[in-house]
Amino acid sequence: MNLDTRPIASFDITNRCPQYCGHCYYRRDTPIAAELSDGDFLESVSQLQQHYGIGSAFWVGGEPCLRPALLRAAMALFSRNAIATSAMVPIPDDLDSGLLISIDGFTEQHDALRGSGAFARAIGNIRQLPRQSFALSTTLTRANATVIDDLPALVDFTGAIGVLVGFHVASSASHLTLSGQERADLIKQLLALKVQHPDVLLNTSGALTRFYPTGSGQRSKEDLQCVYHDRAIAFDAALRPKAPCTFGTEANCASCGCPVIMEHRERDEGNPSADGLLRALFPKRRQVTTLN
Ligand code: SF4
Ligand code: SF4
Repeated sequence: MNLDTRPIASFDITNRCPQYCGHCYYRRDTPIAAELSDGDFLESVSQLQQHYGIGSAFWVGGEPCLRPALLRAAMALFSRNAIATSAMVPIPDDLDSGLLISIDGFTEQHDALRGSGAFARAIGNIRQLPRQSFALSTTLTRANATVIDDLPALVDFTGAIGVLVGFHVASSASHLTLSGQERADLIKQLLALKVQHPDVLLNTSGALTRFYPTGSGQRSKEDLQCVYHDRAIAFDAALRPKAPCTFGTEANCASCGCPVIMEHRERDEGNPSADGLLRALFPKRRQVTTLN
């Protein structure tokens, strides 16, 4: 038995990104890893896939769609994939993968976090995709907390299948991080939205309640039974392991806001809706290949 088995992995496929988001966890980590060439990345990722027995891969960055050819080739090595993109560059429509597009509100709120003109540019690229072929991913921060009221209209306007909502993952020093009370109030709003618009919010109610602050003091990924404790591993753009997870060295487990992690925990507790959601977000590929 391989004690290193990690069936889930996230990969920073590039360290480049056209945006400078105020809530970016990636740019907080310094120094950012140097990128590998396409050939070296592909060969190493294939070795990692075999060594860790990785079946499910999450492609992040930076902006993964800046390396579309490599993305296509690398994803073909895994049976399930999902991509997180800002939609600031064209998104290929033939990736056979789940697609999470980061949209943090309509123009005013999105651009406040992601830069002037970002919403219009993202919508221009989203319009090239078939409707219902992607999900929105919205990160709540102190700057866009009122976006919850707009989520039904945002999903309708973009043509997404729904929206997956998370909270900014950062050290408590970040000016964008919500206080425990603010976060608790927003979770109540999200639970109400889930009742009123069950097709808009993709998060399960059970996973939403897991966002409630865990109280004062340090809590580790082990305490929280996060998949990054024993089943998942994250790699930077040089394919070196990242600790504690894809959110980098400043990730604060006590205030983890990652919706995918919460759905994994919910699935572990036997919630079939969380299982269905994760299968939909990370769809099974039609064909998986290996490098010769
Ligand atoms: S799009 Fe993502 S990687 Fe790029 S700056 Fe924004 S949060 Fe960071
Ligand atoms: S920040 Fe969240 S996803 Fe990262 S290791 Fe901690 S609990 Fe897991």
